[in-house]
Formats: sequence, structure tokens, C-alpha cells
Amino acid sequence: MRKFTSIYIHFPFCKRKCFYCHFTKFNYEKELVDKYLNYLVKEIHLRSNLNYKIETIYFGGGSPSLLNEEQLSMIMSAIYKYFNIENNAEITIEANPEDVTYKKLNYIKKIGVNRLSIGIQSFVKKDLVCLKRNHNVKQSIQAVENALNAGFSNINLDFIIGLPIQTQKTLEHNFLKLKDFEIPHVSAYILEEVKKKKYSEDRDNELYFFTKDYLESIGYTHYEVSNFSKKGFQSKHNLKYWKDKNYIGIGLSASSYENRIDYKNFSNFNNYFNKIENKKIPYKESQTIEHDKRRIITGLRMIDGISIKNFENYKNALNFLISNNLLVKKKSKVAVNPDKILVLNEILTFFL
Ligand code: SF4
Repeated sequence: MRKFTSIYIHFPFCKRKCFYCHFTKFNYEKELVDKYLNYLVKEIHLRSNLNYKIETIYFGGGSPSLLNEEQLSMIMSAIYKYFNIENNAEITIEANPEDVTYKKLNYIKKIGVNRLSIGIQSFVKKDLVCLKRNHNVKQSIQAVENALNAGFSNINLDFIIGLPIQTQKTLEHNFLKLKDFEIPHVSAYILEEVKKKKYSEDRDNELYFFTKDYLESIGYTHYEVSNFSKKGFQSKHNLKYWKDKNYIGIGLSASSYENRIDYKNFSNFNNYFNKIENKKIPYKESQTIEHDKRRIITGLRMIDGISIKNFENYKNALNFLISNNLLVKKKSKVAVNPDKILVLNEILTFFL
């Protein structure tokens, strides 16, 4: 029987490095990018597995929207050559607003990408200045209009919450745009750096719960700590991470999970290139985390929670957390108390 799985492709280059970003990324230099893509395709070949049925493909970064038509089609051809891709596979690319011209979106679509995740961050000028982003509000609006005009209906917009000058009113301004554009998926992340320096957790709580309540009031379902969707538009790819499914991460620093083993690729170009040169998968390390523990750590991010069966070996922790109102039992499932979702990391320490 064929196994279902997903492919993640990492493109670790950006035109500008944002101060708050923790992803592996480097300045865009054409020569290095060309070399990297050459090795990326070789890695796709090395990872080839025709027993897998690929249900989702995700281009993340970095800034994969910097890929041109030729580069993107080279990667896609390799994926299609070395893996079995489901006909209705969800294929996502992360995009910066300043990169997505109507022309570019047309070739992205032509190549088979059917879901866009646009790093809008905010439709408010002061927020974008604070984040030192490369794009302005006009470009954000243009990017969404281009996406809709190019025929994309499965769109996610990323927002950052907890900015110094952000208020419920400015957040509402952002969310009204979601309504105008009929966007089916939203990710809202709390900005850690600024928070730590100047602002209290109470303020983050206020803005986070305002976001949650507002989005729910306009028809979104909160299904993961930072993710909200309209019916039928949950991110199939990200669900794989939270639902204990296999995924193959290809590229510098990419993570994989296959047959209950976690793998991590090298984050250093020389090591990455050398391994592939020697026809070896560029794993830096692997580890097997006790399965129930891993299931709890990834699964409790889901608002619906996970089966109580996963807590068999953690009965004391479970009882303690339930009696302290941090976890709740819902029939045969256990979930984080929705009011305590922002202390999830602290809750998870009970299972480490
Ligand atoms: S563009 Fe995106 S990936 Fe690149 S540095 Fe900024 S936030 Fe990080």
C-alpha cells in the first residue's frame, strides 16, 4: 500500500533580512542561488520515493516568490519526475507582496501552484514601517488583487500582532480587508522581540483574543494556535505537521519526519553541498522522540486537541493540568483550555 505524505521545499534567500525572523535565510546572490537550486534538484532526486503519494507540496523560505519561471518549473519538474503527486494535491508558495506581479502569479499558477500564502503582515502603514518591511500598504493591496485576478481562490494572509502602535482599531482595519477580499485563511503571529522589550503579556493577550473573537465573528474557525480558516480551507500541508503525518523536507535546514524519525538537513551550504556531491541525503542529525510525547507536543497546537489515548503514560501531568484548568477533556479528546492557549509552551513543559 502506498503511503501518503508531503513535500516541503526550502528556498533560503531574501532580498532583505527582517529583524524579527528566525528562519534560515541568506542574502540573495545570484551565483549562490543558481548553485543552490542545482543541488536542490539533486536532493529531490536522492530523496525520490515512488511508493509515496504526495498530497501537498509547500515552497517556504526565505522568499520563494523570488524564484523565476524557469527556476520554479525546474523544481516542479524534478518533483513530478521523482515522486507520485496526487491529482488534487495542495501546492502552496509563500510570497512577499512586493514580488507578486500579475505576470508572476500567472506563471506560478500555470506551473501548478494552487495556494498562495502572502506575507502581508499588516495593511497599516505604521506597522509596516515598524517591521522595516520591504513593501508598503499599496503593494499589499495590489498583491491580493493580483492574486484574485490571476484566479487564486485558496489564499492565506499572514499578519503580525502585538506591534507597539497596534490597537484593536488598527487590527480591525486589517480584518475588514479580509472581508472585502473574501480571504479564506488567516495566520496571525505574535511578534516576540518587540513584546519582550517593551510590552506586557497582558497587552498581547488583549490583542490576540481580540483577533480571535473578531475573526470568529466574521466566519473564521480558529483551528490552530495561530491559524484561522473558512470551511474547507484549512492548510492541508500544515495539518500534516500537527497530525503526526510523514513529511519530506528538502533544502538547506529543512526538517523531515518519516516512519516516526525526525531528520534535520544541514544549515550550512558547504556541508549541504558536500553531502549531496557524495550522493548522500544531507541530514545533519536525526532523532526518535517517544511517540506519545511527540504527538502531544505537536497535536495540542490544534484547537480540537488530540485523543486521550496519547496521554496513557502521562496520567499525572494530565490530571494536574486538567485540575488547574489548563487542559480540558472533550469526550475522547484532550485540548488546551482556549483561554490558556498563549501559555501552551509552559503547558508542554509538563511532557518534556
Ligand atoms: S522576508 Fe520573510 S523569510 Fe525573509 S527575513 Fe523577512 S520574514 Fe524572514
